[in-house]
Amino acid sequence: MDRSFEDILLAQDFGKEEIKVLLAAEGPRMKELLRRAREVKFRYLDNYVHLRGLIEYGNVCEKNCLYCGLRSGNGKVERYLLSDEDVLSCARLAHELGYGSVALQSGERSDPAFVDHIAQLVREIKKIDGGSLGITLSLGEQSEETYRSWFEAGAHRYLLRIESSSEELYYKIHPKNDKHSFRKRVECLEMLKSIGYQTGTGVMVGLPFQTLDQLADDLLFFKRMDVAMVGLGPYIPHPDTPLYRFRDQVPPADARMDMTLKMIAVLRLMMPEINMVAATANQTVDPQGREKAIAAGANVIMPNLTPGEYRESYFIYPDKACVKDRPDQCKSCLDIRLAAIGHQILYNEWGDSLAFTKKTR
Ligand code: SAH
Ligand code: SF4
Repeated sequence: MDRSFEDILLAQDFGKEEIKVLLAAEGPRMKELLRRAREVKFRYLDNYVHLRGLIEYGNVCEKNCLYCGLRSGNGKVERYLLSDEDVLSCARLAHELGYGSVALQSGERSDPAFVDHIAQLVREIKKIDGGSLGITLSLGEQSEETYRSWFEAGAHRYLLRIESSSEELYYKIHPKNDKHSFRKRVECLEMLKSIGYQTGTGVMVGLPFQTLDQLADDLLFFKRMDVAMVGLGPYIPHPDTPLYRFRDQVPPADARMDMTLKMIAVLRLMMPEINMVAATANQTVDPQGREKAIAAGANVIMPNLTPGEYRESYFIYPDKACVKDRPDQCKSCLDIRLAAIGHQILYNEWGDSLAFTKKTR
């Protein structure tokens, strides 16, 4: 017999049809789903939020993803790469602010100079106060050797969104060539896990052509891959990208926000101990978006530490939130916003994924 909505909510072993029922919830049912997800999060992870100071290292990218403003085919971007001193002063600032961790992100590059440079930067960040900062990397697809060298240098978490777990949709949002292979992306996730990284993935929500069926499959993909972290957020159409011409196929902002929240909530029920990021993109579609994502089950926020003058060049999508905020303002703003929804920031800790540390203990 089919389970009732209330019974599904109390379970954690969802089949795909049940996931779809939850993702389709609206009004009081949606509220009930989010409430239940928050309750589960509090039970497993308490009311803590972990921070990663985000350093957007550079916007040069070898890829040409059809949705992203940093794609190599976009001639309108002024390209930059932060100096070592810029990166290290961001990392020192993260440490001073008590963030506990940094995340280094950039466009995808695989040339040896870049690869070596990252390893060197990771080693330098590790020297700050005797290795007190946790390090997450989000630098795209790389060879196993590269991933290993960065891990050995001291990085211990890696974020690589699958973007969509549907191969069909994947090839609608990426060019069809060797540089944009779905298989390769999945293989990279497997490599990262086997090297020993806390591995994170995620998808964009509200892509043109995306179906409820595919979103349910995305959640099952995260579960099957047994990842330690997930970052998912709304897709935001960027005018200087090829996917923009399908913007009339993109659900309105409030619908993308709601679907993102439901995805987070259902995933929290399915994987109660993983780390989940409240993506900045949430705040672009809704001024309260990040807090809403936290209230629906996310537990990580990545405040931007990129020096002001470069932030507007890291133009992955339009109207990025907090582009003009200074880090110290951002910190007190976060404290207040999170306290208002019953959460607190856990300062000076790496904030590793419980799903991961339990396995390796
Ligand atoms: N180059 C690396 C990391 C930088 S891109 C990589 O691709 O993995 C980081 C994330 O930005 C991507 O994973 C993608 O999910 C997100 N992104 C890109 N364009 C976007 C858009 N238009 N709207 C919302 N998110 C976007
Ligand atoms: Fe490059 Fe990442 Fe943007 Fe794709 S999503 S174009 S890899 S920065």
